[in-house]
Amino acid sequence: MIKDNLLKIKESLPNDVRLIAVSKTKPISLIKEAYGAGQLDFGENKVQELINKQPELSSDIRWHMIGHLQSNKVKYIAPFIHMIHGVDSFKLLNEINKQGKKHDRIINCLLQFHIAQESTKFGLDYESAKEIIENELFIEFKNVCICGVMGMATFTHQEEQVLSEFEYLHKIFIKLAKHPSISNSFKTVSMGMSNDYKLAINKGSNMVRIGSKIFGERIN
Ligand SMILES: *Cc1c(COP(=O)(O)O)cnc(C)c1O
Repeated sequence: MIKDNLLKIKESLPNDVRLIAVSKTKPISLIKEAYGAGQLDFGENKVQELINKQPELSSDIRWHMIGHLQSNKVKYIAPFIHMIHGVDSFKLLNEINKQGKKHDRIINCLLQFHIAQESTKFGLDYESAKEIIENELFIEFKNVCICGVMGMATFTHQEEQVLSEFEYLHKIFIKLAKHPSISNSFKTVSMGMSNDYKLAINKGSNMVRIGSKIFGERIN
């Protein structure tokens, strides 16, 4: 069933859009099933769950941390994490760089923006993102790669609202890409989930994070 879900979603994605299978709350057995169907990118939103699952699964899986990340927990995922989607402060980026250095790795990061109307969702605005990349220490960060942006739209059936939020994030991406502090690795626009990924792709997403459409509804 998971294989069929994956195939159906992949068929609907343009070639340049990467699919992250969001496996949070789902057991190892289901992740193995998706992996067996050729899926290599998986997303989790809790550090504890991620570090429980990672050693149980194949080492060629690319793990994406998609949830809010506290600086004091970066050390647990730094040895293996492929990409951290939720970078929303200089303090956090500084810590990721420090832990990357310790493990002799360059850790891929996305700047998370607050684009939704809900006040509970984490993220930067354009000005605070600019402050991060204009910080004088930023150019000395050799162990992080700022690869792009990430955001979550408002949870609503009003398509116009969702479309305008995705469009806004894409505009931020375009503006930041021209900033002198930003390298040409800045290519990723991570937006779109099970219920809105088609709208996100419409507005320039090239990375979608899909959970329930692959693994089924989550109970908690
Ligand atoms: C849970 C989650 C997703 C996937 O949500 P679905 O609606 O199940 O596709 C995507 N992104 C983030 C940040 C999430 O926390």
